[in-house]
Amino acid sequence: MEFTLIDRIRRRATGRGDVVLGIGDDAALLQPPAGMLLAVATDTLNAGVHFPDGTLAADIGWKALAVNLSDLAAMGATPAWASLSLSLPAADADWLDAFLDGFLALADAHGVALVGGDTTRGPLSVCVTVHGWVAPGAALRRDGARAGDDAWVTGTLGDAAAALVQWRAGGAHDPALRARLDRPSPRVEAGRALAGLAHAAIDVSDGLLADLGHVCAASGLGAEIALEALPASPALLAAFDGERRTALQATGGDDYELCFTASPEARDAIAAALARVGVRATRIGGMVAGGGVSARLADGTTWQPARAGHEHFGNGG
Ligand code: ADP
Ligand code: MG
Repeated sequence: MEFTLIDRIRRRATGRGDVVLGIGDDAALLQPPAGMLLAVATDTLNAGVHFPDGTLAADIGWKALAVNLSDLAAMGATPAWASLSLSLPAADADWLDAFLDGFLALADAHGVALVGGDTTRGPLSVCVTVHGWVAPGAALRRDGARAGDDAWVTGTLGDAAAALVQWRAGGAHDPALRARLDRPSPRVEAGRALAGLAHAAIDVSDGLLADLGHVCAASGLGAEIALEALPASPALLAAFDGERRTALQATGGDDYELCFTASPEARDAIAAALARVGVRATRIGGMVAGGGVSARLADGTTWQPARAGHEHFGNGG
């Protein structure tokens, strides 16, 4: 059974000139560009934990790759290759084809080649590893922030968490919000544009305050954030307001925007570099001596979220 499934994957996988040997041998042979650092990231999605039961196979395929490309984006790396480890409850060719529709659509959009993987029988689980590269010294590390840096975020925050709230409530839901949850757009071009320009970056997977907190910890700094500056989409503005919206933006996970820090002198260069790739970014605060993230309301008081990180689906995580 596995062979038939692997053959289906092999027939659909697209190549690249730097893939000397792809799916079919004991290992892939890949030619990275001379002088670059390899950037490697892995993420696993488990049914009921990382996506709701009943999520379309195509959306699972898209998201499994998207969360990985988001990690490379947050390093400022250029993605090139992916491998795919699939645990499937049954040898369901239709499910696999739909999964590949989503996975390969995103892979093709970023010129990423699927070069290998593993296929086994078990509870539904998808583990993807992506490989890319970044010039030495240009990577956007979590420990690179400096006191006095601006803190920025790309795009808008809170949509994916808002979709989750609507899904849980079981009533009306906005497809624009749900699309952010099911088909996140990894900020690959933005990350590349920021490489060598920003000082530090992280992708917002667990919520802005939690993820910026990781940058603070790694850099030995604190951050001060103005909550009214956090960018919101029209869909979020229409669906939630007040502290509920603020909480979604500040602590909601799964947005896969980039949060980064950079020198105030680089403001124009950053705006220009991101404009070239069609991405908006908003300054939300700055890095200071100390530790932890302090989030301020418009009246200057510090806001304490009820919960700092984000939860998973069901009761799995
Ligand atoms: P091995 O026993 O050497 O691990 P497999 O039968 O697991 O071989 O895999 C055969 C080939 O198919 C390998 O090149 C492997 O990388 C590839 N492959 C297996 N599963 C997948 C998958 N889900 N996606 C992409 N390539 C896969
Ligand atoms: Mg194998």
